[in-house]
Amino acid sequence: MKIVNPATEEVIAEVEAADAAEVGHAVERARRAFAAWRKVGPGDRARLLRRFAALVREHAEELALLEVANAGHTIGNARWEAGNVADVLDFYAGAPERDHGKQIPVPGGLDVTFQEPLGVVGVIVPWNFPMVIMTWGLAPALAAGNTVIVKPAEWTPLTALRLAELALAAGLPEGVFQVLPGTGEVAGARLVEHPGVAKIVFTGSTEVGKEIAAKCAGQVKRITLELGGKSANVVFADADLAKAAATAPYAVFDNAGQDCCARSRILVERSVHDEFLDRLGEAVLKVRVGDPRDEGIEMGPLISAEHRERVASFVTEPPHLQGTCPSGPGFWFPPTVLTPRSTDDRAFTEEIFGPVVSVVPFDDEADAVRIANDTPYGLSGSIWTRDVGRALRVARAVEAGNLSVNSHSSVRYWTPFGGFKQSGLGRELGPDALSAFTETKNVFISEE
Ligand code: NAD
Repeated sequence: MKIVNPATEEVIAEVEAADAAEVGHAVERARRAFAAWRKVGPGDRARLLRRFAALVREHAEELALLEVANAGHTIGNARWEAGNVADVLDFYAGAPERDHGKQIPVPGGLDVTFQEPLGVVGVIVPWNFPMVIMTWGLAPALAAGNTVIVKPAEWTPLTALRLAELALAAGLPEGVFQVLPGTGEVAGARLVEHPGVAKIVFTGSTEVGKEIAAKCAGQVKRITLELGGKSANVVFADADLAKAAATAPYAVFDNAGQDCCARSRILVERSVHDEFLDRLGEAVLKVRVGDPRDEGIEMGPLISAEHRERVASFVTEPPHLQGTCPSGPGFWFPPTVLTPRSTDDRAFTEEIFGPVVSVVPFDDEADAVRIANDTPYGLSGSIWTRDVGRALRVARAVEAGNLSVNSHSSVRYWTPFGGFKQSGLGRELGPDALSAFTETKNVFISEE
């Protein structure tokens, strides 16, 4: 596979794609490693994960630059991402000693529960946040005593491959964490179908997620799904309009809109719609798009020419407003604001995964909730109002897994993350992530 820098279109690496047989060998290695890894004492497993985190921190700048070159992320974002990988590993390094079972009172003996690791976990990763999304599955899975095979996205395998080297250097035994670059149709599909894989963590499109869920159902294979989104940013007339408008571009154009949490539908109370749109326009024109290696740049290119074409297909009429972007080599697309005539417009209903936002008016609270929920997705969203009661009512009414009030909070590793409806199944991160990588076993021991 030719790996291309999306900001320059240069080939920066060539990576061998694993075939189905190689997936089989990797699963065998992972199964052998599992037998020993699950027996590593909790304190030792914790220490190894902490050492892995420390090595990631030491190599944070190198990993960040690799992500800039491979995925076109701005250097600021990429540094945050490398730090997040280390933080997530550190956080779950605290988990092995706390992975308690229960002692439940029963007559005639002792009843205890154990949290047993599942076995081999396959983590299938998209290209938009390669190293962080991989780690959200990897870290709790390893902490719980599983072994892991990561299948990175075709376009962005470089940070995953480097992290696997760092894991070995940190002392993780061979076979505990493997990275298998390859195509979804071959390597990804084999990982899903292989009976030796106990669980799949999939992050990607809803379309592929459904296919994977159906295949896993055949083996009652455990799954966590993190899928698409079309999140609403709801702005009421009583909100701090200046702040809501100044922050809205970053809630959708961050990572060039290639973010499952992008607030790509802005719903504005009718009485302030025009004023908000003017303020939003000013903010959009200030977004700095360009070479992602430059410190001041806020938005880089899209991941590929193919993806840019798809994004462009949503802009069928002259947009309300468009920012600027470089015109040379690279898969550039300018920040774009649409004001669709109808909420049935394709740009308003489908996930674009690019720097395109649609703004529509609403009449009252009930109308805002209705429009926000009129989507098969339910990943994230924002609510802007100074009325605490309304903020609570709307936050409870919007069908989405991650909401923020008067902010566009990003994901925190110590709080749960995941989607309602067709945005996903299960939760990642937060204090309970290990339960997604363990089975509860109940054992009764008779007194007699
Ligand atoms: P994608 O579904 O095309 O691919 C994701 C991964 O699945 C890739 O590694 C791909 O190789 C693999 N894959 C493809 N077909 C497969 C198959 N048949 N069997 C097994 N694996 C297969 O998604 P993408 O284009 O890489 O990523 C963009 C999508 O990811 C968007 O919809 C976005 O919203 C979603 N996403 C969701 C979250 C979340 O946490 N909810 C986070 C990031 C991205």
